[in-house]
Amino acid sequence: MYHSIGYPPKDAKNKGLWVNQERFKRQLSYLKEHNYKTITFEDLVKGWDENDLPDNPVIITFDDGYASNYTLAFPILKEVDFKATIFLNVGFIGRERYGHRFLSWEEIREMQDYGIEFGSHGMSHRNLVKIKEKEAKKEIEESKRILETFLGKSVVALAYPYGAGSDTSEVKNLVAKAGYIVACGTRKGKNSPGEGRFALKRLSMAHVNNLLDFHLLLTRGRVH
Ligand SMILES: [Zn+2]
Repeated sequence: MYHSIGYPPKDAKNKGLWVNQERFKRQLSYLKEHNYKTITFEDLVKGWDENDLPDNPVIITFDDGYASNYTLAFPILKEVDFKATIFLNVGFIGRERYGHRFLSWEEIREMQDYGIEFGSHGMSHRNLVKIKEKEAKKEIEESKRILETFLGKSVVALAYPYGAGSDTSEVKNLVAKAGYIVACGTRKGKNSPGEGRFALKRLSMAHVNNLLDFHLLLTRGRVH
């Protein structure tokens, strides 16, 4: 799980969430050299159902939909011929908010044409556990509908803002009812075929300072 790629501006909050482009490139090169195969959530679901996944599958995800996913991450992904999934705050597309520029529809289109998958991160990054059910339903359903209209294909995956929802059956039910097939939070770890499909784990790339830590995360699911 990545967020913004690049060097954080001096006044940025959550500086630790940023991964600079050199480090990002080293991590992708590591994956390439160690024969990891990047897949999408669509591939994952199909692979689990048909018991046909490549060896060493990995899904590279980005949360929030920052413009740097296009300007800095996308060229590197293309260079190594990797896929990835970007979870969009649909209400922020093409906008500037909290000092960030978010991806535009044109950038999303170009990345989709290459093979990048898009998932929902809600409309406006609200905590789905803390808002009324009616509002959570709207965040979950409306973001899916808008994305599908634009992308011309089914959106199978959602990432809970703040990771909130993966332990809450009410929220998971809303996500399932809306027609998503998988959802992920921020619980750390690797996933196996028997995993709860609406509570997939992820490995955070924040504060992963060297390739040894990266290697340990990928192989053991944790650094320590
Ligand atoms: Zn987020």
